[in-house]
Amino acid sequence: MSLHEKSIAEIVAALDSKKFSCRELVSHHLDRITEANGYLNAYITVDREKALTQADAMDKARASGNAPILAGIPIAHKDIFCTKDIKTSAGSRMLDNFIAPYDATIVSKLKAAGTISLGKTNMDEFAMGSSNENSYYGPVTNPWRKDYIPGGSSGGSAAAVAARLCVAATGTDTGGSIRQPAAMCGITGIKPTYGRISRWGMIAYASSLDQAGPLTRSAEDAAILLEVMSGFDPKDSTSLNRQVPLFTQSLNNSLKGLKIGFCKEHFGKGLSSDIENAIDIAIKQFESAGASIQEIELPSSKFAIPAYYVIAPAEASANLSRYDGVRFGHRCENPVDLADMYRRSRSEGFGKEVKQRIMVGSFALSAGYYDAYYRKAQQIRRLIKNDFLAAFESVDLIIGPTTPSTAFKIGEKSDDQIEMYLQDIYTITSNLAGLPAASIPIGFSKGLPIGLQIIGNYYDEASILNLAHQYQQETNWHKMSPTAFSLEGIQPSIKP
Ligand code: GLN
Repeated sequence: MSLHEKSIAEIVAALDSKKFSCRELVSHHLDRITEANGYLNAYITVDREKALTQADAMDKARASGNAPILAGIPIAHKDIFCTKDIKTSAGSRMLDNFIAPYDATIVSKLKAAGTISLGKTNMDEFAMGSSNENSYYGPVTNPWRKDYIPGGSSGGSAAAVAARLCVAATGTDTGGSIRQPAAMCGITGIKPTYGRISRWGMIAYASSLDQAGPLTRSAEDAAILLEVMSGFDPKDSTSLNRQVPLFTQSLNNSLKGLKIGFCKEHFGKGLSSDIENAIDIAIKQFESAGASIQEIELPSSKFAIPAYYVIAPAEASANLSRYDGVRFGHRCENPVDLADMYRRSRSEGFGKEVKQRIMVGSFALSAGYYDAYYRKAQQIRRLIKNDFLAAFESVDLIIGPTTPSTAFKIGEKSDDQIEMYLQDIYTITSNLAGLPAASIPIGFSKGLPIGLQIIGNYYDEASILNLAHQYQQETNWHKMSPTAFSLEGIQPSIKP
């Protein structure tokens, strides 16, 4: 099996038995990036020298017998996480010149565990988007099919994992940005319970919704990384002060007696029939493993998109006020006075979608409209949470589609804002409620991957990963990779 098709556990075992070195593993992935990134545009920054130096350090640590658990695993970070000495752009011209003086908590935790960062991945500007078309650095291509979007906003991370340009990657999910690109690129992605992973050093979009998580090939890899990434951080005031479960220990629990809910409103109108069929097949699989399926109701879900598109822009308008040309990032040339500097620095630094959201958010928060929009949206948020709490009285997990359709063509929805916003119709509710949720690959439609969403109760990432892992023990969807990215050449094609 090629080096780039191995799971984390297989790599660790192979490194332990000296089948290959960390340097070989890292340079193999760096070569793949050199070969494919011109086409995919998944990475904004690649730090070859640093990655190889770290690989050598990890080879030494292994030889001396005191290597950390993930010593030598090559990963990539979404360019929203601050990395010391390496540019952190958040996909924006505003931060094209920004080099953070420190590492985000999640970056240092993964580094301490021995992983090696190959670089920073492309993303929608400030994580606003569902297609990666809003990046200052240009769109990312879906590795499965030329001219198709990879999903967003963590599209670079998802494409890099799917094309085997790293073993795993970090992402963030404010309304679906880990799960939606995971679904569209045929990989596994999990957004844990709000607060499970520290937000310190993660550039803020909408702070009450933002949550980091891993994008991986399998649920097992996700469990391994989530254990490392999670945990209380005094530097983040919303960090959960709770014991982190050993997610890897419950992967093999039996599904007998597990109660899985599905919401009828998620099916039918607006959902592609291929996705619906793939979910039906997955449901049969769960039933044959001993789980029972029952219908649940989430009546307030229909208000999720409008509520989200008030709350997220409102918080974004406040969070992005710090980019004023003074403290961070882009400053315009020759300002005539302070107002001119603010106005031009922000006009030049931000892209169209970001500006639009700042305007919507500022409007929603303005004195005369606060009650009509922001307060109302917060009330809807509570109703959505209550729906979930009621559903979790009778079921352990909730499944459904991750996205209404598979990946679409680059440019296809750029002029239709509502269509674009509807991409997150199934994912946004768990952000509004703060619940953990994952997407796993369950099939293909016209050569493009289909994702299944699994939502869990608060703090119960373990059950999500258990169900996902058991499914992946019986199916091979998560093992498929686009054959395009062998070093022999880039011919987008699909392995059946
Ligand atoms: N597509 C949603 C948005 O544009 C979600 C993005 C995200 O989760 N970061 O806001």
